Amino acid sequence: MPKLKSASKRPVYYFGDGKADGDASQKELLGGKGANLAEMCRLGMPVPAGFTITTEVCRSYFEHGQRYPARLWPDVRAALAKIERSTGKSFGSGPNPLLVSVRSGARVSMPGMMDTVLNLGLNEKTVLALAEISGNPRFAWDVYRRFVQMYADVVLGLKAENETDDDPFTAAREALKRKRRLKEDHELDTRDLEQLVATYKKIVREKTGKAFPEDPWQQLQRAIGSVFESWNSARAIAYRTMNHIPSDWGTACNVVAMVFGNLGTDSGTGVAFTRDPATGERRFYGEYLANAQGEDVVAGLRTPEPMEVLAQIQPRAWKELNTIRDRLESHYHDMQDLEFTIEHGRLYMLQCRSGKRTGMAAVRIAADMVREGLIDQRTAVLRVPPTALDQLLQPVFAQKELEKARKERRRLGKGLAAGPGAATGRIAFTASNAQERRARGESVVLVRIETSPEDILGMQASAGILTARGGMTSHAALVARQMGKVCIVGAGELEIDYKAGTLRCGGTQLSAGDWLSIDGSTGEIYAGAIATQPSEVARWVFAKKRGKPKKGSLAFDYERLLSWADGYRRLRVRANADQPDQCVNAIAFGAEGVGLCRTEHMFFAPEKIDAVREMIVSETEAQRVKALARLLPLQRKDFEGIFAAMGPRPVTIRSLDPPLHEFLPHDDATVRRMAREMKIPHKRLAAKIESLREMNPMLGHRGCRLGISYPEITRMQARAIFEAACNVARTKRFVPRVEVMIPLVSTKSELVLQGGIVREVAEQVFKEKKLRIPYLVGTMIELPRAALRAGTIAESAEFFSFGTNDLTQTTYGISRDDGARFLPMYVEEDIYPEDPFATLDALGVGRLMQIAVEEGRKTKPGLKIGICGEHGGDPRSIEFCDTLGLDYVSCSPYRVPLARLAAAQAALKSAKK
Ligand code: ADP
Ligand code: MG
Ligand code: MG
Repeated sequence: MPKLKSASKRPVYYFGDGKADGDASQKELLGGKGANLAEMCRLGMPVPAGFTITTEVCRSYFEHGQRYPARLWPDVRAALAKIERSTGKSFGSGPNPLLVSVRSGARVSMPGMMDTVLNLGLNEKTVLALAEISGNPRFAWDVYRRFVQMYADVVLGLKAENETDDDPFTAAREALKRKRRLKEDHELDTRDLEQLVATYKKIVREKTGKAFPEDPWQQLQRAIGSVFESWNSARAIAYRTMNHIPSDWGTACNVVAMVFGNLGTDSGTGVAFTRDPATGERRFYGEYLANAQGEDVVAGLRTPEPMEVLAQIQPRAWKELNTIRDRLESHYHDMQDLEFTIEHGRLYMLQCRSGKRTGMAAVRIAADMVREGLIDQRTAVLRVPPTALDQLLQPVFAQKELEKARKERRRLGKGLAAGPGAATGRIAFTASNAQERRARGESVVLVRIETSPEDILGMQASAGILTARGGMTSHAALVARQMGKVCIVGAGELEIDYKAGTLRCGGTQLSAGDWLSIDGSTGEIYAGAIATQPSEVARWVFAKKRGKPKKGSLAFDYERLLSWADGYRRLRVRANADQPDQCVNAIAFGAEGVGLCRTEHMFFAPEKIDAVREMIVSETEAQRVKALARLLPLQRKDFEGIFAAMGPRPVTIRSLDPPLHEFLPHDDATVRRMAREMKIPHKRLAAKIESLREMNPMLGHRGCRLGISYPEITRMQARAIFEAACNVARTKRFVPRVEVMIPLVSTKSELVLQGGIVREVAEQVFKEKKLRIPYLVGTMIELPRAALRAGTIAESAEFFSFGTNDLTQTTYGISRDDGARFLPMYVEEDIYPEDPFATLDALGVGRLMQIAVEEGRKTKPGLKIGICGEHGGDPRSIEFCDTLGLDYVSCSPYRVPLARLAAAQAALKSAKK
């Protein structure tokens, strides 16, 4: 376990009355929540007194078999005494009992993934004191029943039996409300609440065999342990895996004096963003619930009002909040997300952190803040997560289909637009059903009354998420925004019946498995499927005649951000493209060349596949040459299209790579048809196909091994390439930049043989065409041996390109096609920190790459080196490629914008170091 840089042994950090032991720079030690509470305190903002137990204590707790360090409790007692002095209240006794919240808070925010206990410190005696001093017995008992339920859930682990059932406490409360013919919780009177507490305690005794703890000190100790342990809850682990958060960070624990938003109509609680988290618009955006505790907002139990109501009902607090908004933004230079509570008209700040936002908001806010002078361009480029750009390109509903759906009255209703983009899919009512459907390849819309952190895997599996309750700051909205999912929350007209598996709205009833379409940019919900089309930014990107985008449009900010990024990056960005139309897209996205053109992808085209098959089953060289002659003009045409589309940009074409067997038909009918057409006996053809079958084709007769067995294939491909290049050079005003790449080389002699053929054919073609075109011949480095022998291989290579899919496969000895059986489990159980096929394994595969770069450039200083594996579009892998000193990364066309931004971030980060 890595030790913290500032190894501190102090377990407890106090904050209160404008002073704090910690500050915002100590997130590693105090967690984000603790560090920012301390910082807000220092800034003189109204924060209730409290203290933070460090993440070091949490780690030590786990290292020592769930035991606390000896020094902890005296320090906790001392800090608690300071809170008592600051508030004039006393913990565990009257006349003015101190209640506290015990809150989790890790280094980075993990919204709702860990646990918090509110209102701790109540027992049969202090509840009476609280009733007395507040003059509000109903309030005291309401707080008590909340506490017992939360403590039972978090500390005692008494939860609902399954996804569709209520937990036993909610069930008991609902039962009481039914008996009393009440609809809302707030209609329960003092006697009802007293009775509920008694019922809750009975449930606790029945389920745990022990009485509910009366001793507040014991309550506190156990709650702290439970907060630590929530770091290892299933959902926290799932969230960490998804977001690449190391499991050894641990969480801090914040103990904060309670302030009450549920003391009447002059009290309340809210959540706000200093800018709109969905669009990025510069306006104070928030939600407020009068007479409620914070949990009610976050859990989405009641749908809150827009926070502007405060201007009317709480003008003083509203003014103060606006001042705090400005101060926080100018202090943190970023959009903040805040939690606040108003107790009898007095404002308290309970949390601030940099706010989660959609990809659109991220781009917009970064660009706006540069305009406003809050941040510089460098910061803007560093701040937008590269994946945000994917969201800007997310599809919207096709206008015609949408109108049709409206005409057919398939519009069901409207909710809050919480996660932009359009999604269409089949309804799942539970997270597990969503995962099952996804696994079957269905597109899913997850429909829930509200989501809870248990649902995250189901949310991940869904294209869209729809909830009936909750506001823009509910769990569903927060998590969806971060995942980049289409999301609508608070669609109050929906009647969802989990037991029956139905969704009713405005006379229409839908069941699980039915199609549903949601527009997370407008909040509209439709029955049935609706086709989607490109977004505003995508439309600008693909516009035939593209001018400068309109000022104020998202495309404008997108273009600006990427142009800043281009100014900082060192790596060039190419695309993997096999067809002219893909090349056109790639250029629109800003690709500077083609890093990988897979020639075999063209072979599958209907007009070619027969000739390809004929070539494969040929029994003599003469036969094969004849079949190849049929292929030549077809391939040449493909290459002409690609060269014409790419203009003077470099195009790397790989010679034939996959095992020949992949091209052959496997069903008998096609084999018979083919035999007839080729005029050979069916039996002979079938036998030939059988003879080509390999035990392990991935490691078999493929890559350059094919070209070495059948040089005429390489010869034909080289001829097609160079004839195409000459033809294009003749007719256009540019000269194509050709790079021919030999795959799966493990030794220099393979490259010498194949490169020799390519060069020989090039010379022939140039002579025939009376035209000379500069070109390079290089190789892929995708076998460990090639990496280790790179120094020698470089003697006959003019460039290297890392094929990291195969290199990962062969370094780990894991078949790409079979890895899925166990890789997810490996990642879940932390045997591998992550899937090495998704993010480059810097330590092992990366080590081989480093050797290849060093050795290759020792032989040929300045040797051009790139990467064309799937990793070329993964931000962290791109960062690694930057540190290795590669010249370019190549990825799928749609990932090019992301790669441009990631490359800029990599360069800026390494400059910082
Ligand atoms: P999360 O990280 O899940 O938001 P929090 O620790 O922030 O958990 O607490 C959950 C809710 O309880 C929030 O709405 C928060 O504002 C509220 N809360 C936490 N501590 C207090 C407190 N001392 N007084 C009043 N409300 C609180
Ligand atoms: Mg919070
Ligand atoms: Mg390969």
